[in-house]
Amino acid sequence: MNSAIDLHMHSTASDGTLPVDDLMRLAASVGLKTLALTDHDTTAALDRAGEVGKALGLEVIPGIELSAEYSGKEVHVLGYFLEYQDQTFQQNLEKFRYNRYGRAEAIVKKLAGLGMPLDYKRVLEIAGDAAPQRPHIAEALKERGYVETVRQAFDRYISNDGPAYVHSEKVTTEQAIELIRSVGGLAVLAHPTYTPDMEAVVELAAKAGAAGIETFYGTYPEETVERILGLARKFDLVPTGGSDFHGRSDGGQLTSPGARFVPPETIDLLKQRLAR
Ligand SMILES: [Zn+2]
Ligand SMILES: [Zn+2]
Repeated sequence: MNSAIDLHMHSTASDGTLPVDDLMRLAASVGLKTLALTDHDTTAALDRAGEVGKALGLEVIPGIELSAEYSGKEVHVLGYFLEYQDQTFQQNLEKFRYNRYGRAEAIVKKLAGLGMPLDYKRVLEIAGDAAPQRPHIAEALKERGYVETVRQAFDRYISNDGPAYVHSEKVTTEQAIELIRSVGGLAVLAHPTYTPDMEAVVELAAKAGAAGIETFYGTYPEETVERILGLARKFDLVPTGGSDFHGRSDGGQLTSPGARFVPPETIDLLKQRLAR
């Protein structure tokens, strides 16, 4: 059964493959009622998501997914209920995105050094309106026949341990949380198992003012969900969830919005935090 709630999905405004209109239509057609669009470091598609979502009878929560850092590792922080039109907020996001451009170019240079030259312009074309990110580079590698799948591109070359990985300038986890809170939003630690020292990151996020922790996430098995629920209780965080839908099918990700069940009380719990 499809979930009525999905608080984590991407459109072509970042590294998803579906334009926001198509994403909203798909979300409605699979039975979603409440959703958050959480593109990486951009709110570019939120106006449109709200418009199209409303016409389709969806409750659309304005969201984002910020890339931050903890001890040299990448940490993602989701933001919900953002007053995203705020000018200072937008200027800060622009800095994030410029960093991404520089990073993508550096990765392409490294790949050339490894004997896999790519046309950077082609990477930008694949990225479309979005800032170029690793999935776009992976797509370009696939196109040139250097790899067979996007997953393979990550595994062999551009994952965090890969030979073409480039560390990008990032804000700390606390700064990302602060940025979200600065526009009235709720910060939620995304897919917490992706960092090696999960409990330390959760504790730090809670202290920095995070409201929730992503628990019912993607393909997390039951025992992982239970572990995170324990941390949610310990640090007084709302357990949230979502599919992290990108529209791709070869990245080991869920293939439909709402494919991950998220408990119906989640939205009320978040709204209670908002009212605090
Ligand atoms: Zn993420
Ligand atoms: Zn995501």
